[in-house]
This record gives sequence, structure tokens and C-alpha cells, in this order.
Amino acid sequence: MSALSAHCTAGASRQVRLAARPRGRTDGDTWEITTAPVPEPGDGAFVVRTELISVDPAMRGWLDDVRSYVPPVGVGEVMRAHAVGRVVTSRHPDYPEGSVVSGTFGVCEHALVGPGGIPLRAAGVEVVDESIAPASVWLGALGFPGKTAYFGLTDVARMRPGETVLISGAAGAVGSTAVQIAKLHGCRVVGVAGGPDKCAWLTDELGADAAVDYKAGSVGRALRAAAPDGVDVYFDNVGGPLLDSALAQLRTHARIALCGAISGYNATEPQPGPSRYLSLLVNRASMQGFIIFDYADRFPEATAALSAWIRRGLLATPTQIVDGTVDDFGATLNKLFDGANTGKLMLRIA
Ligand code: NAP
Repeated sequence: MSALSAHCTAGASRQVRLAARPRGRTDGDTWEITTAPVPEPGDGAFVVRTELISVDPAMRGWLDDVRSYVPPVGVGEVMRAHAVGRVVTSRHPDYPEGSVVSGTFGVCEHALVGPGGIPLRAAGVEVVDESIAPASVWLGALGFPGKTAYFGLTDVARMRPGETVLISGAAGAVGSTAVQIAKLHGCRVVGVAGGPDKCAWLTDELGADAAVDYKAGSVGRALRAAAPDGVDVYFDNVGGPLLDSALAQLRTHARIALCGAISGYNATEPQPGPSRYLSLLVNRASMQGFIIFDYADRFPEATAALSAWIRRGLLATPTQIVDGTVDDFGATLNKLFDGANTGKLMLRIA
């Protein structure tokens, strides 16, 4: 079992395990629900009852047996997931019963953390400070998605006030935070999302200067209208044809922060590369991929900045919470690929 995979158990406690590697979209054959007794924690361990399970596009990638930035989830292992939950039994002084914690607990009802379970460091356990924001926000704007938006824009893309910033997947967890951070830095922001409702939300609620519905007509024409002088920064959550359209809009010395490429995560064949990549040369532009875990040492910086904006009412923290049980995990994951979420998607388990 990989370090990040969870060891989950329960009296009537259930886990979602990878039953078979999917080809394309995940379906009922991908998952298996198992039951195990809730463990008694030994010295230095504690048991978390998970309440909110983060549902992320990266989960699809973790199912493929390929070299990546983390090992794939093994067949038979509990599905890896970040989650928030409450400590229900504890023999660890720092995590008393009743504390609310976040960590990589897996898709399960109970997780044993510490000796005999998920190693504390691998779980990345943090005590959730609900005085700053509700627990759900610690999976969204204050969690990995918010930190990804923060470092992707400030560090990878090095955005500067006055620049034009284009963001795809703009109505999602990372994108919606990125739109607002770029506005807070004094940038002109163009968001790309699927459908008129999401686009109206981006401009009317999140403050984007323009929004492009990539599902409606010519994206190239719409981008030229939204950013007639081109873009200095492209925060790419999506890849695929949108990346090509964005490449055509680059200004001199533009920077592309390659955050994700969700358009290809369920692909069953190798995806074609961007045909307009020479725009990088013509515009002396750069494109850099990044993984949020590489910024772990600087997480406190992002948490401080994001918390301050939330406290001052400057950063909205949209979440989309599906109420259900662990059985609903597979269907909830597929919502991401249908664009059925606005803001951070998560599963609240009863
Ligand atoms: P999200 O944006 O909340 O949800 C995914 C969204 O992607 C959907 O709502 C959908 O919105 C859009 N989408 C789905 N299929 C698409 C397609 N074929 N073409 C264009 N858009 C499509 O997810 P998230 O958690 O914020 O993640 C966004 C991206 O960031 C993902 O690529 C993820 O892998 C990446 N990410 C990277 C890191 C890192 O460390 N590099 C960390 C976190 C996340 P529409 O309705 O607008 O289509």
C-alpha cells in the first residue's frame, strides 16, 4: 500500500477501494465498497470520522498505472482523498477527541492515523481553524485549490498589476479562487467556463472583467473580443483545444502556468499537443508546469494571505457539497468531467 493511501476501518465503517483500473471514465466497475471494524488506536494514534471528502480532477490521474508525481492508487487500496473529519478516539495528545482535522484520509468513513494506520506525516494532518472559515473552505479556498491558485499566479506566472490574466476552468475550485486573486492584484481578468450561467457568475459575482463560454461558438473570436490586446498570463486548468486558443492570444513575454489539463484526463488515446506552440517562441513566452505539493514549505504564506482576504470579505469561497454516503463517491467524481460543479466540489458523508 502506498504511503498516501489510507488505512480505513470501522465498526460499521466503510471504504471505497479501487476494484479495477478504468479505461476512460470511471464507472461502477472501478470501485468496490468494503467494510471493516473501527480500530482502537494504540499509543500515538487517533481515529478520524471523515465528514467532507474532497473530490478532485487529479483523482482520475491517480488511477492510472503510470509514472507521476505520486504513486498510483493500487488495485484493492482505499481511494486516496483529502478530507476533513472529527477525531472520535485518540491516544495522541495533539489531536484530542472532538478536534476537527484535515488530511489525506481516503474515501472512507473512519481513518486510523498514526502507528498501525496512515503515518501522520503522510496524512499531512492539520487542525482546522473554524474561526477563520467553515471546515468546507479548508478543502477549497484555504485548501490545496486555493493554494494552487495563489502560487500558480504569484510564483509560477509572476503576474503583475495591470496585466491581463486569462484563466480556464474559471468557475471551478482553483479557477474561481484564481479569478479573485488576480483581481485583488490589480489585473484585468478574463475567465473561461462552460455555459452562460457560469460565465454570468464569473463577471457578476466574482468580478471577472470578461467571461468566455467555451461551449458557445468560436473560442478564438470570443477571446480576441475579451482580450483585444492579448494576454500576459494564461492560468491553464484545462489543456486541449483551449490551450491552442490561448497560445494564439499571447503577448510578448507572456507566461503560462500549466496547472492542469482536465480535458484529457479521461482520454483513452494520447492527446495531440498544442499546434500553436511556436507562439511561445515568437512571443518569447514561457510555459511552466507546477505541482502544489512542491510549495509545502510556503503553505503558511498562502494560508495567511487567503485567510486575510476571507476575513476582510474580499474572497468568496464557493463550495458545492453533495450530501450522500461513500457509495456516491464515483458519481460525484464524474460530475467534475461533466462541468456539474461551481466552486469546490466535495462529498459530505452521513
Ligand atoms: P474544478 O475546476 O472545480 O472542476 C473541474 C472543471 O473543469 C469542471 O467544473 C468543468 O467546468 C471543467 N471541465 C471539465 N471538462 C472540461 C473540458 N473537456 N474542457 C474544459 N473544461 C472542462 O476542478 P479543480 O479542482 O479546480 O481543478 C482544476 C484543474 O486544476 C484541474 O486540471 C486539476 O487537475 C488542476 N489542479 C492542479 C493542481 C497542481 O498542483 N498542479 C492542484 C489542484 C488542481 P466547465 O463547466 O467550465 O467546463
